[in-house]
Amino acid sequence: MTVHFPFQNSYSALPDSFFARVAPTPVAAPRLIKLNRPLAAQLGLDPDLLETPEGAEILAGKTVPAGADPIAMAYAGHQFGQFVPQLGDGRAILLGEVIDSDGIRRDIQLKGSGPTPFSRRGDGRAALGPVLREYIVSEAMHALGIPTTRSLAAVVTGEHVIRETALPGAVLTRVASSHIRVGTFQFFAVRRDTEAIRRLADHVIARHYPELVGAERPYHALLAGVVARQADLVARWLLVGFIHGVMNTDNSSISGETIDYGPCAFMDAYNPSQVFSSIDEMGRYAYANQPRIALWNLTRLAECLLPLFSDEQEKAVAEAQDILGAFSDQFSAAYQAGLRKKIGLFTERDGDDALIQDLLVAMAKNQADFTLTFRKLGDAAVDDSADARAQFMEPAAFDEWAGRWRARIALEPQGAAERQVAMHAVNPTFIPRNHRIEAVIQAAVNDDNYAPFEELVKVLAEPFEDQPDYAAYADPPLPDQRVLRTFCGT
Ligand code: AMP
Ligand code: MG
Repeated sequence: MTVHFPFQNSYSALPDSFFARVAPTPVAAPRLIKLNRPLAAQLGLDPDLLETPEGAEILAGKTVPAGADPIAMAYAGHQFGQFVPQLGDGRAILLGEVIDSDGIRRDIQLKGSGPTPFSRRGDGRAALGPVLREYIVSEAMHALGIPTTRSLAAVVTGEHVIRETALPGAVLTRVASSHIRVGTFQFFAVRRDTEAIRRLADHVIARHYPELVGAERPYHALLAGVVARQADLVARWLLVGFIHGVMNTDNSSISGETIDYGPCAFMDAYNPSQVFSSIDEMGRYAYANQPRIALWNLTRLAECLLPLFSDEQEKAVAEAQDILGAFSDQFSAAYQAGLRKKIGLFTERDGDDALIQDLLVAMAKNQADFTLTFRKLGDAAVDDSADARAQFMEPAAFDEWAGRWRARIALEPQGAAERQVAMHAVNPTFIPRNHRIEAVIQAAVNDDNYAPFEELVKVLAEPFEDQPDYAAYADPPLPDQRVLRTFCGT
């Protein structure tokens, strides 16, 4: 039996300027280290066959499966604010698309599968550590209910990649509802190829915004749709303490999924100016800056779409500004509604926003763990506040706030148990803490030991369950376990 991929490719049918046809480069000795079996089944792939040696060869790019039409996608992008007219998939190859069991078209892409015409000086490869990081964090995001690319598989290649030292090479199979980015539009905009922008926009509408097909002003509606999805996405990131780390326009997905897990991390102690990425010296992509940057990226998208809006530049700009103007309110509405749920409010009253803000200020002052404070607050709804107040350096700061909180929730008819259930459904116990990810990577890279990886992935698949056997995974790092810097580590 050979592995069958039910490919139905649409991107590779677009004009040649959209991509470069290129096959993955074979590797020495592929070995499957993780297959996401439920995701495989959802994509119409046979998990048992993917676990055979032939499956590992496909997932490593050593064999190209029948029906694949391998391409590297072209895109441009602003990296840390600097425009680069040509980036493109330098170490990723799109094998093709399948329609999943929900009827959604999904890209199947190999990341780390060898050089492409877009590789510039890079080797087209990925190291094991970043592959495991992406696997862990993307799947954790999915379990947290946040739109994201997924991870289907990780293989080691049997070859080394040279970074600062020689590291084991690996390939990640990434699944996305598409890999079209703000930077994909920029690629054509900088070349003044309005026809290509129109083709791309039509493809995106049919694929990601089908409700807009036949709309009176489809390209305006497309921009509004992307704005709405990005506003919602960034609100969700903030609500779980996620820091993307490298929100360049080429890492900003048109479908509204989180994409490109490089130096990303979840914060432990709440700190709005938290940065982890080693290359983000100015804090451009700090936690609290993410909404502002999302809007900046969307503004770059709007610029690309102007020629489709109107021949009159001024009119087009005014229309774009109008659409972009919705971002702030949409973001704030999603963020505030999420925070209200996090503190267990079922209703909306004057003063709620201030109550929430005061908690966040006290958390920041007291280095309270972001995740545990909210989780334990759920327990405080039925019990005393001991565990929640223990998160604060000066527990008295919490007590003062908790008194106001108890008075506020007493105004609602819902009972304590119901409130706890509602709060636990939005406040996870388990997030992919940086020190845990680091420990998993060390065990895999140094000792070829994947047991810690397996266990972490398993725990993070049920982030809202208490899982008493794995309680230690909820703990913040001890001072000597803290990981303060993350690397793009491509
Ligand atoms: P990233 O920082 O992962 O978003 O990548 C930015 C750009 O650099 C993209 O065009 C990537 O394809 C390219 N790139 C990153 N790492 C490599 C690599 N090892 N080989 C070739 N291209 C790479
Ligand atoms: Mg990228």
